[in-house]
Amino acid sequence: MGRAFPYVIIGGGVAAGYAALEFTKKGLSHGELCIISDEPVAPYERPALSKGFLFPEAPSRLPGFHTCVGANEEKLTPNWYKEHGIELILGTRVESANVRRKTLLTTMGETITYEFLIIATGSRVVKLEEIGINGSDAENVCYLRDLADATKLVNVMQKCRNGNAIVIGGGYIGMECAASLVMNKINVSMVFPGPYCMSRLFTPKIASYYEDFYKSKGVNFIKGTSVSSLVFNSEGKVTGANLKDGRQLPADMIIVGIGARPNTNLFTGQLTFEKGGIKVNSQLQSSNPSVYAVGDVTSFPVKFYGDTRRVEHVDAARRTARHAVSAIMDPKNTPGFDYLPFFYSRVFSLSWRFYGDNVGEVVHFGDFNGTKFGALWRSNGCLVGCFLEGGGDDDYVAIAKAVRDKAAVADLGELERAGLGFAVEV
Ligand code: FAD
Ligand code: NDP
Repeated sequence: MGRAFPYVIIGGGVAAGYAALEFTKKGLSHGELCIISDEPVAPYERPALSKGFLFPEAPSRLPGFHTCVGANEEKLTPNWYKEHGIELILGTRVESANVRRKTLLTTMGETITYEFLIIATGSRVVKLEEIGINGSDAENVCYLRDLADATKLVNVMQKCRNGNAIVIGGGYIGMECAASLVMNKINVSMVFPGPYCMSRLFTPKIASYYEDFYKSKGVNFIKGTSVSSLVFNSEGKVTGANLKDGRQLPADMIIVGIGARPNTNLFTGQLTFEKGGIKVNSQLQSSNPSVYAVGDVTSFPVKFYGDTRRVEHVDAARRTARHAVSAIMDPKNTPGFDYLPFFYSRVFSLSWRFYGDNVGEVVHFGDFNGTKFGALWRSNGCLVGCFLEGGGDDDYVAIAKAVRDKAAVADLGELERAGLGFAVEV
């Protein structure tokens, strides 16, 4: 059994959805594109899973957050794919790929042949067992990567009202889920080994603001240690956790957010890799000219950093996807990809954005007792990064431009005094 398509996308996540829309904008004909996804639903905006999906009241549900609503574009419901003659193969995993023969073998036993392949397989969660802890299969241990995880999490939360949750990890998942747990009236303890939350991005001063805010909502931070094992009852349900520092915490549920790994195994030994991702050029084209990689799996040249990086955030997924499609369909009019790294998060009533790089010297600005503050990073005499909590649209446009332009910063003290005004005025 087999079919052939000019264009095939493996993976049905954020990047796949944005790629599909871009294909149609570039004049795709019916029957030319096939998307193979092991998820049972059409591509959706994954960030919704740790935000609106977990709201106790009026939660977001599909079809409300199919791509590409996150970028104020059309919403691609399953019907949209039908109308555009795009073959959406759902609930089906690609088991193996042969880039020399241009074939993919699916779990349904079908061989699919392509002319151009886009790899958009995203990431998987790091499991507890990978850090030496058992318990991933327990009914009240939750991860958060896909719709199935989010559905389990909602069900577990509903049974835990006024109970205790332990959040393992103080990164993006940990912070966003802790906020949602509080909103669902669950007592939260966050446990992570670092000195403060979001330590790869936040400065100690920024982290201290968010930690204080979370504490005011009742969250208990346990830092500088980690969970060594989980405690189970006779039915295999988790009832607590042992910490490396000897403490034991009670738990009605556990949420694990200890990082993600790119799903690249299908291509090990077939494509060139760098920094754990599939290495591509500025057209998102891999070491095999018929194969492109986008989203979390791609290690792409980021001119802004002067380096090749993998970026595990939604804006990069959307933009790399659009760019790869443009490079395939309209190569002559597609210049090299020029990306300004951009991350964001929303928790409780808070909302921040970050543009650029958090290297070099940093100064803080704004009212850390109020609602609008941030940080600016200078490296080699230029502005290279900006974090802003509580900004308005105009502020974000201004800081994105100032960072992209790498505005010259002669005097760090002056930068600190001017704060956000520096970005607005350049
Ligand atoms: P994904 O969206 O993960 O999609 C990959 C798809 O490929 C999945 O459907 C997967 O099932 C499928 N797949 C994998 N292997 C195979 C295979 N062999 N065969 C078939 N299908 C396969 N970023 C932000 O910037 N802001 C946020 O607020 C934010 N919130 C997030 C919240 C959550 C809960 C999560 C998990 C991530 C969040 N992110 C956020 C990160 C962002 O969602 C990802 O960077 C983005 O989804 C990456 O897009 P992708 O298409 O590369 O991968
Ligand atoms: P992150 O890499 O953001 O955070 C991992 C966290 O796990 C860190 O706090 C780290 O602590 C901690 N950790 C590492 N080892 C241990 C351990 N042994 N015990 C306890 N904690 C440990 O990964 P997440 O899981 O939070 O996120 C997964 C993916 O989802 C990422 O790709 C992320 O970008 C994406 N995501 C993005 C969002 C956004 O952009 N708003 C929102 C949600 C998810 P330390 O740093 O102290 O070592």
